[in-house]
Amino acid sequence: MEPPFTHPLIIGPLAPVFWGLMGLLVGSFLNVAIYRLPAEGESIFKPLRSRCPKCRTSLTWYENIPVLSWLVLRARCKTCKCPIHWRYPLVEALTAFLFWSAAHSFAGDPLMIGIVVLVLSGLVVATFVDFDCFEIPDEVSIGGCILAPVLSFLVPRLHGVELDRFEAVSGCLLGMAVGGGILYFIGWVGTKVYSVDAMGFGDVKLVAAGGGFIGAVGILHGLLIAAVLGSIVGILNMLRLYCELRTRVAKRHKADSRLRSLQAARLAGRYIPFGPYLAVGIGLGILGWNNDGALLLQYLLD
Ligand SMILES: [Zn+2]
Repeated sequence: MEPPFTHPLIIGPLAPVFWGLMGLLVGSFLNVAIYRLPAEGESIFKPLRSRCPKCRTSLTWYENIPVLSWLVLRARCKTCKCPIHWRYPLVEALTAFLFWSAAHSFAGDPLMIGIVVLVLSGLVVATFVDFDCFEIPDEVSIGGCILAPVLSFLVPRLHGVELDRFEAVSGCLLGMAVGGGILYFIGWVGTKVYSVDAMGFGDVKLVAAGGGFIGAVGILHGLLIAAVLGSIVGILNMLRLYCELRTRVAKRHKADSRLRSLQAARLAGRYIPFGPYLAVGIGLGILGWNNDGALLLQYLLD
């Protein structure tokens, strides 16, 4: 099939730059989605203009230029001077980088780039909403579960260049079942063993959607990456809490034992959102970087 968009900007050598700039704009919209999706009674599209989260003044166009405005205004709202979090420009820059990377990985195939940047955008939203609220919006997870089979049918090369529509949809459904199934099982075991909810159902839906896009093998890699990353961050988080507790103990000249601090840190640090690490695993998979990573590892070991 002839790609529908053949403008040199979209498929030529400058394509990554074009897609990177698109990513900046989309990132600005994702910030709005991250802020409004978990909030009750807020719509992503109404009002269309971004507002200052504190004084709720609508931003003018020059206050709303991705990354640049934040730098020029020195991280403050022009009206109320309240500080604007560095996460806003971070999300914009991250989205730009991801779009740029997608254009690199799928050079000359604008349809695939379009699908990949759509998935990556969903993952960015899931990541930051999960950091904020310990939940993954259904718009992303269930939306992904619906879109994955539809897009696999329309663009079978999502699952491999030589696949027909039937094979691509089968691969998609298998990926969803394997990804969602494994995480559901882990959660079930966690509930039985520790009698607490070890895994949110939002995570299960997100991984099912991810599996629908990157297939069964891809999602297994993704889960492995997420488990390693999540464990590292979890341990660092407990260490941080432990150090904070020890400083407090030292300040108050209390005679708390190290073991007690360790136990307290372990309890308090147990809950970290898992969605962001799942998102990294899925994102690396859809960019094809898990293969590149494996190749690099093999090259380094040889
Ligand atoms: Zn303000």
